[in-house]
Parts: sequence; structure tokens; C-alpha cells
Amino acid sequence: MDKILVSACLMGHCVRYDGGHQKLLSQTIDLWQKQQRLVVLCPEVAGGLLTPRPPAEIQSATGQVMDIEGNDVSDAFNRGAQMALSICQQHQIRYALLKESSPSCGGKFIYNGEFSGSKIPGSGITAKLLKQHGVRVYGEQDLNDLIKMVNQN
Ligand code: SF4
Repeated sequence: MDKILVSACLMGHCVRYDGGHQKLLSQTIDLWQKQQRLVVLCPEVAGGLLTPRPPAEIQSATGQVMDIEGNDVSDAFNRGAQMALSICQQHQIRYALLKESSPSCGGKFIYNGEFSGSKIPGSGITAKLLKQHGVRVYGEQDLNDLIKMVNQN
């Protein structure tokens, strides 16, 4: 059975920058968890960042990840992305369910780097790396598509 990488905050782990979570309620997720198909990771915590932490956004001009206090946190974000990739390779994971719009996990949208609340099309650091290596990334809004895809295989 295919394993699926999942953002830890979607599983209810309090790992978001603000100390909260974004638990996704779904019977299918509960079933997959019972079947031990889920591999749960927060790339930012895995990369060495603390919870809570200042919010960070990818800068459009440079691609650097800067937090709202002006610190360059790109190294931690890149480390977390590399860890996510090695976990996918180790478990032969082809699908990831990642929190949309996050500077790590966002698959279709990210914030624009100005801490203004505006989103632009783009991918977070982890989502981008996984996609470059053939992992199909789904956001929480695409859960039904992911379920169909996993059930076909
Ligand atoms: S890095 Fe990903 S898993 Fe961690 S809190 Fe942000 S969106 Fe959730």
C-alpha cells in the first residue's frame, strides 16, 4: 500500500509558527492512519525551528525565506525540505498531503513575501523540492483528488 507524507499540522500537531494546528477532519485520513500509511512531518520543525516562531515568507526577488523580524531562515527551511525528500525516498512515497499556502508546504500558493496577507501562485520550499523529485503534492483542498488517486493504485 502506498504511504503518504502529511504535514504534521494537518494531523493536529501543534507545530505551526503560532503554536497552533490545522487539523483536517476526514474519515479517510483516520483510516489511513490506522493502516499506518501516513508519514507525518513538519519540515520547519525538522529543519530546526522552534514552535512558536516568527512567521516567515519567501521573498519573490531572491527566493530567500525571511522571518518577520528580518532573519534569514532559508537554511532551516532547506534542511527541512531535504529531510522530507529523504523520508519520501526511504519509504518510496509518491504522494504528499501538504498544508496549502505555507512557505514550506504550500503546493499552489504562497504568501507574497511582504507579510501583507496577499497570496501569489507558487510553492513552498518543501513542496517544490518534492515536486521536482516526482512526488505529487496535494493541498488540503485537494483531499478528494488525492483519495481518488490513491484508491486507483
Ligand atoms: S511547515 Fe508545514 S507541517 Fe509545519 S506547520 Fe508549516 S504547514 Fe504545517
